[in-house]
Formats: sequence, structure tokens, C-alpha cells
Amino acid sequence: MLIASEENFSETILTAAVLVKNYFQMLLDEPNALTPDQVVAVHNEAGDHRLVLVCEHASNWIPPAYRALGLDEAARRSHAAWDPGALGVAEALNRTLNAPLVAGCVSRLVYDCNRPPEAEDAVPAVSEAFAVPGNTGLTDEARADRVEMVYRPFRQRLEQVLNDTPEDTVLVTVHSFTPIYHGRQRTTEIGILHGDDPRLAEAMMAIAGQFTRRRVRLNDPYGPEDGVAHTLNLHGSRNGLANVMIEVRNDLIDKQSRQTEMADLFAGWLRAAIARLGSEIRS
Ligand SMILES: [Zn+2]
Repeated sequence: MLIASEENFSETILTAAVLVKNYFQMLLDEPNALTPDQVVAVHNEAGDHRLVLVCEHASNWIPPAYRALGLDEAARRSHAAWDPGALGVAEALNRTLNAPLVAGCVSRLVYDCNRPPEAEDAVPAVSEAFAVPGNTGLTDEARADRVEMVYRPFRQRLEQVLNDTPEDTVLVTVHSFTPIYHGRQRTTEIGILHGDDPRLAEAMMAIAGQFTRRRVRLNDPYGPEDGVAHTLNLHGSRNGLANVMIEVRNDLIDKQSRQTEMADLFAGWLRAAIARLGSEIRS
């Protein structure tokens, strides 16, 4: 009897040990172990909320549970994984304008926070130049996990920041794009994009020549037809807030000094465009 119960005891200990090991393994492997703070960061939340900055593609971090999505380092560092230079511009802008900045902390290859859950490219199985093994053949559950773990906390945090804003707040999202796409050189240097509400983008375009000699184009290299206006429409237009998406060619913002210079350009340009809209902005 004594031996039997000792055996049971050992078995219980063993079972408990396996459970504990599995639990920690789960924490490592289970995407839900990520906290919202690992997914989204808010800089200068106490700043002036009349302008709110967003940088969805600020980071190329792939949480360890995703095992690099099966990608090599070059792919993980490439523009496919994030918008190089965009965070530097957004941070410099946020300092100059004293505006809050909501920045994504997870690579868009895990989940692209500028896409709704129903968009196929929210979790891209193929990027410009390569397949993403970790996104291939995903089950509905695995995809839903990404939505819950990355997309929802990002949306909720941005909503929270926008909750407490004056009615004349404007929403500005900051992105970068690659100079060469599918082997073709892009001549656009700065893209000014809009979604359902074109007011701020049009105001910026109208005075672009006063601020820069760079090649500035409206809705280029992307436009609303590419599904890139998700954040603008969801958090800006639907709330009656004027909004714009800024796209900068990433070779122009490859160093901190150039990011600061670009941010200075946008600070003045945005201020003037907002002043130009004047009372029209309060819709
Ligand atoms: Zn982007």
C-alpha cells in the first residue's frame, strides 16, 4: 500500500511538473501571452490632442512565438516587415508639434494594423519579393488570434487616445515606401493620401509648392483603392475628424538627421494646411 501510494505521489509530482512545464511552454508559444503594451505604444499622451499622430508600421519586431515567421534576417529587416524611417519622422513630428503619437510595436507581417480583419493582406502569405512561411495555410483560429492579439489592442488604444480630443482634432498617419518596387524605380518622393475625407490632403496639396521642391503626388504610390485608408476612415472620417496619410520614400529618411528635417517640413506644412481649412475642419 505504502509503495503504491508512493508511486501515486511520484506520478502526481511528475504530472504536476509536466503541467508546469507545459504552462511555461504555452506562455512562450502562445501568442495571447503578449500584452497590449508589447503591441502598441503611445508617446506623449499628455500632449496637445488637437493633432494625433499614428505610425502603424513603426516596428519590424516579430514576437518569438512566431519563430520569425520562417523568414531570414534580410527579409525581416526589409520594408516588407515595416516602414523604415517612419517612426523617426513621427517621433520628431510629435516632439515639434507636442502631439500624441500612437505607434505599432509588431511587424506588419504578423498583422498589418492598417488593414481590417477581413482584408486578405492583413496577414500576408506573400510579400513583394518572398513568401512568408509562417503565414501560409493559417487556420481561421490562428488568424483570429492575430486579430485579437495585435489588431484589437492597437485599435482600442488609438480609440482611447482619440476619446479625449477636441472636435477640431486632425488625425495624421505617417508611413514610408520603398524606392524600388517590383524592380521599378518610384519617382514620387512624398505621397499625400486620403480616404473618405479628402479635405486635409487637398489642403496640403494646394500649398505643397510653398514648402518643398520634392515630387509630391496625391494618392501615390498608393491610394484608397489599395485599402490603405483603413485607419483614416475608421478613426478619422467616421468621427468627423479631418485626416491625412503621409507617405515618404524611405531613402529620403534613412538617417536621423534626415528624419528630423522631413519632420520639420511636415510640421510647418501641416500647420499651414490646418489653418487653411480653418472653420471647415469642424464638421
Ligand atoms: Zn506603411
